[in-house]
Amino acid sequence: ADSLALAESLIVSIPDYPERGIVFRDITPLLADAAGLRTAIDALIAPFAGTFDVVAGVEARGFLLAGAVAITAGVGLVPVRKAGKLPRPAASVAYALEYGEATIEVHDDIAPGTRVLLVDDVLATGGTLAAAHELFAVLGQTVVGTAVLMEIAGLGGRELVSDVHAVFQG
Ligand code: IMP
Repeated sequence: ADSLALAESLIVSIPDYPERGIVFRDITPLLADAAGLRTAIDALIAPFAGTFDVVAGVEARGFLLAGAVAITAGVGLVPVRKAGKLPRPAASVAYALEYGEATIEVHDDIAPGTRVLLVDDVLATGGTLAAAHELFAVLGQTVVGTAVLMEIAGLGGRELVSDVHAVFQG
């Protein structure tokens, strides 16, 4: 518990980034700390031990966690990418952002029934991770859960992503 508190203290809140009125949670100091990173990765996957075949990280900060999760859990890694980045046939899901729209994609050749753990750094409105859920549902994968380092309360993310496990609450 002490090591978790120490890890949490390494997440920095940046006011008015990327826009006025937004408080951005910056996880890079946590990533840079060996003990903090170890603690965070262990806590991220603890509830899901043995339940997933691959970890899917959402571009871009989700990638930073997914590699560590994959090696720690002994599973493979699937990148969920922004539109137009994948070289082979991919499933696509578009979703609403606060301003405008975004599309995420995943290669469509993952074996049906593969058990997927979704990973990202932060759950805010939940739009991104809800879209990731939809991507794997379209492909016939089973999403066993969603793991984030930090859930920002009060933005409705948990209503859209009901299976989320958050290591920290912000
Ligand atoms: P959502 O779709 O509104 O839940 O936003 C989540 C996406 O935006 C994730 O991919 C996060 O990486 C990113 N995001 C939103 N807020 C923050 C933040 O405060 N710090 C870091 N990333 C954030």
